[in-house]
Amino acid sequence: MTTTLVDNIGLLVTHDVDRSQRNDAAIVVEDGLVVWVGDARQTPDADDRIDAAGRCVIPGFVDSHSHLMFAGDRADEFEARMAGRHYEAGGIRRTVSATRQASDGDLLANAERLVAEARAQGITTMEIKSGYGLTVADEERSVRLARTLTEDVTFLGGHVVPEGSDRDEYVDLVVGEMLDACAPHAKWIDVFCEVGAFTLDESRRILEAGIAKGLGARVHAAQLGESDAVRLAVELGAASVDHCTFLADRDIDALAGSDTVATLLPAVEFCTKQPYPDARRLADAGVTVALATDCNPGSSFTTSMPFVIALAVRELGMTPAQALRAATEGGARALRRTDIGHLRIGARADLVLLTAPSYLHLAYRPGVPLVDRVLTA
Ligand SMILES: [Zn+2]
Repeated sequence: MTTTLVDNIGLLVTHDVDRSQRNDAAIVVEDGLVVWVGDARQTPDADDRIDAAGRCVIPGFVDSHSHLMFAGDRADEFEARMAGRHYEAGGIRRTVSATRQASDGDLLANAERLVAEARAQGITTMEIKSGYGLTVADEERSVRLARTLTEDVTFLGGHVVPEGSDRDEYVDLVVGEMLDACAPHAKWIDVFCEVGAFTLDESRRILEAGIAKGLGARVHAAQLGESDAVRLAVELGAASVDHCTFLADRDIDALAGSDTVATLLPAVEFCTKQPYPDARRLADAGVTVALATDCNPGSSFTTSMPFVIALAVRELGMTPAQALRAATEGGARALRRTDIGHLRIGARADLVLLTAPSYLHLAYRPGVPLVDRVLTA
């Protein structure tokens, strides 16, 4: 057994900032787990020592929503949107075409590059979705390859109806042969319930089929307008309903009385020039909130959680402490995991050392690469 002492931490945040931040702290890691947290002047012996030199240490970010299994580039769409064109869900089909043409090696290499990029910015756990294959073979290889990168793999055959397909036949395929092929590699099922993607009834059918196969449910909903899908997600016990940009009061009430996390993806609003969600309404109602990147080549091509945190503070009404918590423990809750997203005793030792004296700098210094070092279990 090897123990590592991270010593001389200026500010340590183990979980909820308001309750757990401590100055002049130290933390001891043994075999990938946090085994001791305390005062820097009273540290136990350890085999190795890392001097944090007064910097801030936070839990690794948990990105509970990403679409990394893709090929191609849609920078031209971004340019057009910034020039005033409206976002629609249909651009996904361009990525589907590029993804189908990519080799397994190219598809995996692209995802590996993005995971490394995310990690360099402090993300130590990533959920990865399929959804750009939309044939049995292409979805199966997407989840199979994603499984080599993370245990939180999501089958998203219900992303859009592929070009040239009959809607009903495609939904039959998703809940039948495609689900059978993908379920062994996946932990989650997700569906894009939105105008231009899947209806409420189709979404219910897809989610229920996945749940019957033992997968946990997650839902893309309320990105472009209010949607009954938020309450569908709660009804089906989904771990998370993602986007939540447009919520009715009854949606917030449903979320507040449930274990379903509201995952906000403000980089999407940034990249599509849509209105931002109001995180304050969710916090006031007691809803658990996660922040995630939604990294994808169309509507949010970023792997930067610090950027997402900065947006959440600037545009969503979150305090820096709320945003940090949503990007760590909130993400873990959205993945129904208790071993990550915090640094309590027994947690997985996923630590981020910031080149800053406080987590406040994540929002206070937008665009500045503040992640100095990432330790993972
Ligand atoms: Zn998404």
